[in-house]
Amino acid sequence: MTPLEALDRVVHCLDRAHEGGFKAKAFVRAREVARETPADELEERARAGTLTALDGIGPATARVITEALADGTSSYVTKLEAETQVPISPEGEPYRAALRGDCHLHSTWSDGGATIEAMTNAAIEVGHEYMVLTDHSARLTIAHGLDRERLLRQLDVLDELNVGFASRSTPFRILTGMEVDINEDGTLDLDDDLLERLDVVVASVHSKLRSDRIAMTHRMLQAVRSPHVDILGHCTGRLIGKRPPSVFDADRVFAACVESGTAVEINSRPERLDPPFELLERAIAAGCWFSIDSDAHATGQLEWQPHGCDRAATCGVPIDRIVNTMSADDLITWTRSAA
Ligand SMILES: [Zn+2]
Ligand SMILES: [Zn+2]
Repeated sequence: MTPLEALDRVVHCLDRAHEGGFKAKAFVRAREVARETPADELEERARAGTLTALDGIGPATARVITEALADGTSSYVTKLEAETQVPISPEGEPYRAALRGDCHLHSTWSDGGATIEAMTNAAIEVGHEYMVLTDHSARLTIAHGLDRERLLRQLDVLDELNVGFASRSTPFRILTGMEVDINEDGTLDLDDDLLERLDVVVASVHSKLRSDRIAMTHRMLQAVRSPHVDILGHCTGRLIGKRPPSVFDADRVFAACVESGTAVEINSRPERLDPPFELLERAIAAGCWFSIDSDAHATGQLEWQPHGCDRAATCGVPIDRIVNTMSADDLITWTRSAA
């Protein structure tokens, strides 16, 4: 393990533990500094004990670098690896075992903290056959959402990356996608020709979450009925302990999802865990499709699907209604054929 690999692992483990505080930021910063510092200077400073003279390297990060250089490992990394495993219940395990991909995740192209390449490597590491890259659409400026031009550029990048994966012994594919904002009037924040071109479209509400029930129901109905929308992202928009779930006629929205072949996402982010159990039960009763997604904004967060699997198990989601248990080809056939 090189110093950079050790720092990468620390950041990954802190991400999966949902540790976004001072410590995590310090390691992200230290990783940047280590990346920019020539390898021989790093070694020299480790030997001389002067790593902390570099701006952005403190005692804890210096120790990881020094240990990695000395014996290719780090006691801190070993400890973190053990402490930050994402737990899963025995009931959730068959769900996790059935998942072959992840349909909702972000990269540095929007508000994610890791590059497409880093997210890809992590998705391969967790055993996926594919991932759908769903960066934000342009309207979400706070998340550096992608406009038409940038999305087109991203599609070119994905084409190239996928050519490289085709020669791997275990195949992997990045499917094209976007987490498209549902505008206030229920229209979507992307042109039809691009929506048509993407493999998987996740549509989510990110604004005016406190609209009244009639307005929110209308807005969501319109979106899930779009022939381009494949998955309804984090349907209530709740942030546990911070923001209450938005209010809409769930039975009507879920019935429309069934009619239009739009899956209801089971969002695995610890602060979302959306839909709440009561709504999840109603979506099952309606006969919905589901997608258990990480909504990862960092590599370690790709390991969060167990949270969604546990919730699916608790409510008894039929495994054969979960779209990301399909192969990439079958998933694309499903998104193209769904009404
Ligand atoms: Zn979202
Ligand atoms: Zn998202």
